[in-house]
Amino acid sequence: MPDKVQRVKGVNDILPAEARQWQALETVIKTVMDRFAYGEIRPPIFEKTELFARGVGEDTDIVSKEMYSFTDMSNTSMTLRPELTAGVVRSYIQNNLQQISPVQKLWYEGPMFRQERPQKGRYRQFWQFGAEAIGSPNPEQDVEMIALFYAVLKELGIEGSVTLKINSVGDTESRETYRTALQDYLRPHLNELSETSQRRFQTNPLRILDSKAPNDKELVKDAPKIRECLNESSTSHYDQVLVMLNEMDIPFVQDDLLVRGLDYYTHTIFEFTSDALGAQDAICGGGRYNDLVKELGGQDVPAIGWASGIERLLLVVEALHPAEPKTDLDLFLIIMGDDLRVKAPGLINQWRSAGLRCDSDALRRSMKAQMREANRQGARYVAILGEDEFTQGVVQLKNFESGEQTAVSFDKVVSTINPQAGD
Ligand code: ATP
Ligand code: MG
Repeated sequence: MPDKVQRVKGVNDILPAEARQWQALETVIKTVMDRFAYGEIRPPIFEKTELFARGVGEDTDIVSKEMYSFTDMSNTSMTLRPELTAGVVRSYIQNNLQQISPVQKLWYEGPMFRQERPQKGRYRQFWQFGAEAIGSPNPEQDVEMIALFYAVLKELGIEGSVTLKINSVGDTESRETYRTALQDYLRPHLNELSETSQRRFQTNPLRILDSKAPNDKELVKDAPKIRECLNESSTSHYDQVLVMLNEMDIPFVQDDLLVRGLDYYTHTIFEFTSDALGAQDAICGGGRYNDLVKELGGQDVPAIGWASGIERLLLVVEALHPAEPKTDLDLFLIIMGDDLRVKAPGLINQWRSAGLRCDSDALRRSMKAQMREANRQGARYVAILGEDEFTQGVVQLKNFESGEQTAVSFDKVVSTINPQAGD
């Protein structure tokens, strides 16, 4: 026997029963995005590697070790998107979206690819949905962004198990001030830091704040706080964000140690975590990125966005509101006698066109086996079609719940099952 081909490590098959949960979530996402007046954007799955190197940052985990890159026939290095902010910004610039309106509010959903160590809640192909608002520098835009994700949580009924952590890294000037203050604080302890943190001391010292190494954690406890290094306008921006969050009854905790993995953030950064998850507890991360559009060759346009991991979000939904098995079918047609196999498809098709969810057996099985299949599919009704019924233009329609059975003519089947629907 030939070997079975196995799934690639760290990717998932989403089978129909689970896909139903995905569809329910997607409906919520679309409804909320629509309410907030965000338009959907669908950028390509792969881009030139250069986009991520410039847009995400060479020193990030993503670019330094997680990307799926390949060289195509034109000898150009391409990368399967590890995230979509860079792609959305590239698309915004290339399609001159600022000409349509000075603020572009966009959302997306789709698979992302990162070569990470697979574990629960961490995969190599995973899905994100996210939103980007490009054009406004003001704190009300930050708050709308947060409210947008919070609305999705509320719609799913899981906001109670979720914590919003927020911090500000300020503008470029404030970040420089802080970078220096942090380096000054850490310099005497440089040898005690983990290897990764020692490397980051020069390239990206802020990332040392979210190091998982116990000794690093101990050291950063007493480090100067970013908040103390924010200049006046950065402080004012951050304060307004907090005031408006309170105004909107969105609970949050300020987290001085919150820094995000990507290079491009300025001002407000945030993360939503859930206590229904284990180690991988972040379900959404985002922040303001005022310099990215310019750095990718566009105009000097401020922006803010977030991205949420769909698999993790669904783990939370499933933990809090386990899905009930759903009755799927309206009707299962039981066909008695092989001669009727030629006639039955026309009937089913007619009922399906009228909106009924119907199925029948294509294996030419016994009546008993067909009944079993109807049951397995959770049909509300079965219609039994024998030679006599066919001659009279009727089926024996049986309500599975009440057990009631009556002869119903072909053209009355739909209205009997769905009284609101016309035949
Ligand atoms: P983490 O701290 O979990 O590595 P991150 O900072 O790398 O997250 P982002 O790049 O901000 O995550 O992506 C936003 C969201 O996408 C995360 O909060 C998480 O829900 C989800 N996510 C990120 N990486 C993965 C992955 N490998 N598998 C599944 N979901 C992921
Ligand atoms: Mg990560």
